[in-house]
Amino acid sequence: MDTLPLGRSKTLAGGGYGVGENWEIVKEKIVLFSQKARRKPEDIKVVAVTKGVEISKIEDAISLGLVSLGENRVQEALKKMPLLPEEVEWHFVGRLQRNKAKKVVKFFQCLHSLDSIDKGEELEKRARDLNKKFPVLIQVNLTGRETQGGVREEELLSLVYHVAQLSHLELRGLMTIGPVGGEEQEVREIFSRLRELKEEVNREMPQITSFQELSMGMSDDFPWAILEGATILRLGRAIFGERSE
Ligand SMILES: *Cc1c(COP(=O)(O)O)cnc(C)c1O
Repeated sequence: MDTLPLGRSKTLAGGGYGVGENWEIVKEKIVLFSQKARRKPEDIKVVAVTKGVEISKIEDAISLGLVSLGENRVQEALKKMPLLPEEVEWHFVGRLQRNKAKKVVKFFQCLHSLDSIDKGEELEKRARDLNKKFPVLIQVNLTGRETQGGVREEELLSLVYHVAQLSHLELRGLMTIGPVGGEEQEVREIFSRLRELKEEVNREMPQITSFQELSMGMSDDFPWAILEGATILRLGRAIFGERSE
């Protein structure tokens, strides 16, 4: 298996570079690893994760064309939204609390972390109230680490089946978080497993034609995610540098 040319260096995590330089490095890697995987770089979308990032850096990212932004806390995102252009597409990537479902549906364009029928029904109700069809991805926990959230693999099909009946939600695919600090083989097995699970859903429920996305790959492991078929990368530090929090 290939190893990363830049490894997990400070450079990759953006130490000392501006957003523009970081983004150049990320783009080069997306092109390089897409080629290795015989995929088109245009088929890979980057969500710039802005948690803990100051507004001026986010504005830099937007001016470079990074208009899909990810947040994992509703309150923090709501503070930023009025300060940034309206064309930004907001993705909620964090753990969803039921009492935040309304705000998520109202202010975000997509959720990456649906992991229970309960929350699905709450989102459905809120989306119906707002007369919207709300795009969601289901998060699968493949590392067994509780803190990461996500549905267990064994429960995935029944959750998909249930959510598919909710007419105000649009099922877009799957999301996972790789093992933090994992070695290439371990990380790739997890990403590859997510792809297999998506294919299984596509086979079992071909009527859900929108079920195509694989949101996987963060700053330390996105090249491997590209090799395993990621369609959405969620990148924070690789673009903005180390977070101060
Ligand atoms: C913070 C976060 C990211 C981005 O993490 P980096 O390691 O900074 O790229 C991606 N996904 C989720 C769910 C996150 O919370």
